[in-house]
Amino acid sequence: MQVHPDRLAAAWGELVATARRTAADGLVVGTSGNVSVRVRDLVLVTPSGVPYDRLGPADTTAVDLDGRQIIGRLRPTSELPLHLAVYRATTATAVVHTHAPHATAVSTLVDVLPPVHYMAGALGGPVRVAPYAPYGSDELAAHALTALRDRSAVLLRNHGTLTHGTGLAQALDRTAQLEWMCRVWLLARSVPGLAPTLLSDVELADATERLRGYGQPAEGPA
Ligand code: 13P
Ligand code: ZN
Repeated sequence: MQVHPDRLAAAWGELVATARRTAADGLVVGTSGNVSVRVRDLVLVTPSGVPYDRLGPADTTAVDLDGRQIIGRLRPTSELPLHLAVYRATTATAVVHTHAPHATAVSTLVDVLPPVHYMAGALGGPVRVAPYAPYGSDELAAHALTALRDRSAVLLRNHGTLTHGTGLAQALDRTAQLEWMCRVWLLARSVPGLAPTLLSDVELADATERLRGYGQPAEGPA
């Protein structure tokens, strides 16, 4: 089914704004990282290696779920396998990949981000580190998907982060929360002679349950 041009333009505008935020917020440097959003069976993606501040409406780039280019002439992100793997396996409608510094540092140190904060519950539990594989490879996509099971975030070893969500705002927020949690753990563990306390499985499960009711009630009749 065709996507209405207005909907396509709005989705592209939001995608470009999100990609620019990753750079402005220090989650990537230069053209590192990539962002995608799914609109029905179309996946809008950032083009490979193009500075985000240069992207305009004429640069709209989209592929189908098999990776065939449907819109645009710029080459799609090299991490297409990573993004498409997430859309094929989950109900996510947005994916954000960054090289956030604290998260990337943590990816070189542990197999799982130790649960130093209850916000791990907002990502489905302690975030795993996917084994290293070359950027853009099917192998990296497979490793990431395995490590994402029951989670909305994953650390890519010696590389960076991937989060997904319902909408770009949620996917980006999850990246920011992950980067913040990695920073907290690195800060706490850097104090000589002391080691951070960690949350137990029970405490984390309780936090995850509480987070379901966090914020304002869903709209609609009572
Ligand atoms: P692209 O510019 O091709 O999206 O690649 C950036 C990146 O982060 C690869 O892992
Ligand atoms: Zn990358």
